[in-house]
Amino acid sequence: MSGANGASGREPVTVAVDGPAGSGKSSVSKAAARELGFGYLDTGASYRALAWSLLERQVHAEDASVVIAALDDFDFRIGTDPEHYFVRVGETEVTDAIREPRVTAVVSLVARVPEVRVWLNERFRAIVAASEFPGVVVEGRDITTVVAPDAPVRILLTASEEARMARRSKELTGESAEKVGAALRSRDQADSRVVDFMNAADGVTTVDSTHLDFDQTVARVVEVVHDRIDLTETGRSH
Ligand code: C5P
Repeated sequence: MSGANGASGREPVTVAVDGPAGSGKSSVSKAAARELGFGYLDTGASYRALAWSLLERQVHAEDASVVIAALDDFDFRIGTDPEHYFVRVGETEVTDAIREPRVTAVVSLVARVPEVRVWLNERFRAIVAASEFPGVVVEGRDITTVVAPDAPVRILLTASEEARMARRSKELTGESAEKVGAALRSRDQADSRVVDFMNAADGVTTVDSTHLDFDQTVARVVEVVHDRIDLTETGRSH
């Protein structure tokens, strides 16, 4: 990653975290960022924000040319401070709205458009480069392979399908386990046609959280970061 740099005068370190839906990636990445004193970038939220804005305009995400045209005036902001996370489209705060099932149902259509991926990936790299934090935990599907393949820390966070579905249906209390399971499976299938986030690329450390609780998973991720980088060099000493 290139560009400006963090408060230390150095370019922020990238911790790349990929994984399927329901792997706990977002909450684990955010908690690990907090512990490390790093920023946090939820790339999936950006895809969701674009899907949300298409729904608002009542345009069809099936049509790639419409999706590409929408990028022209897609004005989104995303917070990287794990203590003050927000997602905004124009003046509208969409932090919660982008989690609605209607957004989840169409986000893969948006994410499969190569021009969208290139456009967003440039934003992600710019956001990290401009970060005031000594490092940024960037989580998504293709961070270890496409967005930041040279990151010093690259992690694939996995969990069995059973564990992922159980966690997701706990989050979405209004939905039946079957419905959540079916939606999660079909989204993973659609997404994995675009990027492979089920298998660790060369040099990527797999953290399997199937038999770990939340705190143990965060601790394992933080441990991998400590193994890979000397945090005293990034301006952090713990
Ligand atoms: O991580 P989350 O489930 O919020 O991601 C929402 C969607 O965004 C995914 O289902 C996928 O279609 C897309 N995505 C992606 N590449 C990323 C992050 C998310 O294609 N790096």
